[in-house]
Amino acid sequence: MTAPIAKLSFWGVRGSTPTVDPATWRFGGNTPCLELTAPDGTQFILDCGTGLRMLGNRWGAPNSGGNSETHIFVTHYHWDHIQGIPFFSPLYAENNEFHFYSFRSKFLGRDSLKQVFEAQMALPYFPVDMSAMNAKRKFKEVEGGDSFTIGENKITAKWLNHPQGCLGFRIETPAGTVVYATDNEPGDPRLDESLRELAAGADLFINDAQFTPEQLKSTRKGWGHSSWQEGVKLAREIGAKTLVLFHHDPDSTDRMVDSILRQAREECDSVFAASEGMVITLGATGDNVQAHMPGARTSLRREAQFRAKVSGVTEDGKEFQEETVVRDISLQGALISLQNMPQLQSELQVTMQTPGENGLQSSMRLKGYVVRIDAGAEKGQVAVGVVFTD
Ligand SMILES: [Zn+2]
Ligand SMILES: [Zn+2]
Repeated sequence: MTAPIAKLSFWGVRGSTPTVDPATWRFGGNTPCLELTAPDGTQFILDCGTGLRMLGNRWGAPNSGGNSETHIFVTHYHWDHIQGIPFFSPLYAENNEFHFYSFRSKFLGRDSLKQVFEAQMALPYFPVDMSAMNAKRKFKEVEGGDSFTIGENKITAKWLNHPQGCLGFRIETPAGTVVYATDNEPGDPRLDESLRELAAGADLFINDAQFTPEQLKSTRKGWGHSSWQEGVKLAREIGAKTLVLFHHDPDSTDRMVDSILRQAREECDSVFAASEGMVITLGATGDNVQAHMPGARTSLRREAQFRAKVSGVTEDGKEFQEETVVRDISLQGALISLQNMPQLQSELQVTMQTPGENGLQSSMRLKGYVVRIDAGAEKGQVAVGVVFTD
């Protein structure tokens, strides 16, 4: 019998507003949208930010024993969490069925989410109205403290500290527990407790990490967001196994997110920065939590032959240096086979010997950021995909 596996895909990880500038390319610019496929085939979508459009483009109808329903949880009504809805093509196909879950906002009243849909698609904001959405849609109001089951999975919602309110969701699947706590600020004792209850013992704890600890204390206090430091503190307190830093600030470049992650890793063993295209599996034998980075972002490679020296940090945090041959390279990155297993999302120094003029060798030093690790072609080796960062 195989172990039950849950698969969590990150379609949008950026907070507040989408970004398209090259400086944010590596972590991605789409706003929050996650997809969780539970071991029983139930499909969950968490938030409807602009990442939802890409999920729609790669749509594979859910496969839970002939049941083609999808359950969509919307944490709150700020733009970055709803903006993908009109661009989600499966909503326009008659055979699909969606169950939407969100809270009753005091600003909107009954059927808050339905009203949000209608307002978003009203003329002249969008060229077609809601009647073009042919999929079956059901809306369910939930509030903090509610708990219910869908298939073999138990869902719990809790209030979080955020302007105009926000819900965090805990999904307990037979493969492990995922807690999605975006958009929350620490400092309100009652709601801090609510977040602790939500996240207690989670296998995967996805927490708001929009601001630096310094910003959170000063210029961004009261804006409704958190920091990597608060996430690390909380993860330790409530015994979360893996922390995912989420809702990156639109002004945080990839370099800044790298630095945030580096600091978090100094204090926490298992932490990732959410990255568009990242997939995390829960419940696989061996490691309980496994992360995979997007392949598409390392494509366009060419074959090559460069001798190279590579230094970096292994999964266990040990520094290593080894010599290898780079056989596959592009302007963006390379695929390097190594005997050491570097840490995913860590930095490698790659020094390559390149044939210079008159047969003289010259060397080129690059910083490579580890985006994927696969089994190597030869025994005892791993194939490491890196993106060059400068
Ligand atoms: Zn947000
Ligand atoms: Zn918000």
